[in-house]
Amino acid sequence: MKPAPFVYHAPRTLDETLERLAALGSMDGRILAGGQSLVPMMAFRMARPAHLIDINNVAGFDQLAVEAGTLTIAPCVRHAAFHRPAVAGPTGALLAKVVTHIAHYPIRLRGTFCGSLAHADPASEWCLAAVTLGAEIVALSSRGRRVIAADDYFEGMMTTALAEDELVSEVRLPLLPEDARFGFYEFSRRAGDYALAMALATFRLKDGVIVEPRVGLGGAEGRPRRIAEAEAVLAGQKPGIEVFRAAGEAAANAIDPLEDVHADAEFRRDLVRAVTRRALDPVAA
Ligand SMILES: Cc1cc2nc3c(=O)[nH]c(=O)nc-3n(C[C@H](O)[C@H](O)[C@H](O)COP(=O)(O)OP(=O)(O)OC[C@H]3O[C@@H](n4cnc5c(N)ncnc54)[C@H](O)[C@@H]3O)c2cc1C
Repeated sequence: MKPAPFVYHAPRTLDETLERLAALGSMDGRILAGGQSLVPMMAFRMARPAHLIDINNVAGFDQLAVEAGTLTIAPCVRHAAFHRPAVAGPTGALLAKVVTHIAHYPIRLRGTFCGSLAHADPASEWCLAAVTLGAEIVALSSRGRRVIAADDYFEGMMTTALAEDELVSEVRLPLLPEDARFGFYEFSRRAGDYALAMALATFRLKDGVIVEPRVGLGGAEGRPRRIAEAEAVLAGQKPGIEVFRAAGEAAANAIDPLEDVHADAEFRRDLVRAVTRRALDPVAA
């Protein structure tokens, strides 16, 4: 199918973008970033925005910057920018591992990190990375600027704290300490498909025991989130298969699993048990 008619806007500056959003946001005006979610939804007539505000020509929107222990990601930074480590150390390596699970190569050349967070699919790898690493989302509008913690930003299935006149102007990822270890494991039916369940885990070792554990789950519930119950199992323990199994069990028991045509609740719970343990396994290596 072809999209329903819409008016196309191509601002060249941030101010112009915010003006258009202020005027058109409430009239079903939508930002067009990589178009890799919005355009297929328009083609299927699942979305019928009256106005598209294309931000691809705005100067500076393709910037990645590292400053004061934070990686800052501008609105048009593509998924493919993370194929090579965007920053030295464990954060760059983690993002380079995770990105290979997002869709297929041509989609990664156009789709954007910030667009993924705006779209807020519960099975988005970047949304999982944002909550697990404790990202801040900067929301900008002609009314002002808000900084939203990732935990507060994702409200439910494809629902965020973003208002209709707000742009995700940047996402700030705090860098992991140099000695942080990480692991990621995703289960999907075919390469490139959205995850039925995935886990991202990081921790450090101090005197041989786990400190600062973070365990995030995506694809399993209506929104990605950290699982405090699994983190509590890990904290203060020596890394090893038994404690990782126990963390997987705690994660499986803690969730309220999604049910859909791809997986019922019990299958997803079982997947969570497995992906959590498998994300943790390499962290100990
Ligand atoms: C076949 C296929 C498989 C895919 N598989 C995966 C997958 O496995 N994992 C995954 O994470 N994604 C997957 N995707 C989605 C892809 O990653 C998209 O690129 C991503 O979801 C959205 O980014 P985008 O830049 O393309 O956003 P767009 O499609 O341009 O926009 C998506 C939504 O976000 C809004 N938006 C975009 N940017 C901003 C902004 N800066 N501020 C405010 N609102 C904004 C738009 O208005 C729209 O509502 C897949 C897509 C396809 C077509």
